[in-house]
Amino acid sequence: MKMGFPEFCRSPIDIHTHFNHGVEGEYDTPAFSGTHRTMLDFLQSEYARFGIREFAASTYAAVMSDRRITEENEYLHALVQQDAQIYQWVVVHPEQEATFAQAEKMLADPRVLGLKIHPQLHGYRICEHADRIFSFADRMGATVLMHPAAITEMPRYADRYPNMRLIIAHLAEQAHIEAIRSAKHGNIYTDTSGALSMLNSVIEYAVEQVGSEKILFGTDTYALAAQYSRVALADIPYADKENILFGNAVRLFPHAFGK
Ligand SMILES: [Zn+2]
Repeated sequence: MKMGFPEFCRSPIDIHTHFNHGVEGEYDTPAFSGTHRTMLDFLQSEYARFGIREFAASTYAAVMSDRRITEENEYLHALVQQDAQIYQWVVVHPEQEATFAQAEKMLADPRVLGLKIHPQLHGYRICEHADRIFSFADRMGATVLMHPAAITEMPRYADRYPNMRLIIAHLAEQAHIEAIRSAKHGNIYTDTSGALSMLNSVIEYAVEQVGSEKILFGTDTYALAAQYSRVALADIPYADKENILFGNAVRLFPHAFGK
């Protein structure tokens, strides 16, 4: 059987990636290696190859360590003003009040999609700090992009904070699907970023179980050829591919993408 690559009426939006920009030492890991390139110029040349014009990031240095978060947020905030392709996730840390003050200001900018949290790499348990983070997001009407942590507990918080939207990244498990389904206000989402989207029915199963409106496209710096094709060639209806690749991002972030 021959399968053509479908054409879409809008270019995809990668809502979850990171990049390095040459910060010294441990902060900038994963450092450049021949097999996995994470510098911005490489990622942008890959986006160009596939006609992708918009992507949302936080720097690796802001998530790999908790020591430079505010500096990295500032760095990226300046960059998104200059480069029309890049959108920002502001990284917050529950034990660093300065990151919340920073986020409160930055969230007013249409180029900022929301808050990024990484409990695992930042060394805290999400359930101990969930109320601090999610009540803030609720007050700001913000979206939180979370590296998966305590997924089964998340509907409880999503129900408590209905003005927050929570994207539990890296769709892979039944737990993602159950969390999306259990959220009373429908405010839990997931993204396709990461190597586990290569599971051979993960996207198809998730669409069947909870619908494509809850799934957003992301790469997390993994091979764009694979990440994009995985969705574009998935065994799901065309309209669901549109939702995942750009439609949901436009609906969720009209201030950023709805032009
Ligand atoms: Zn990430």
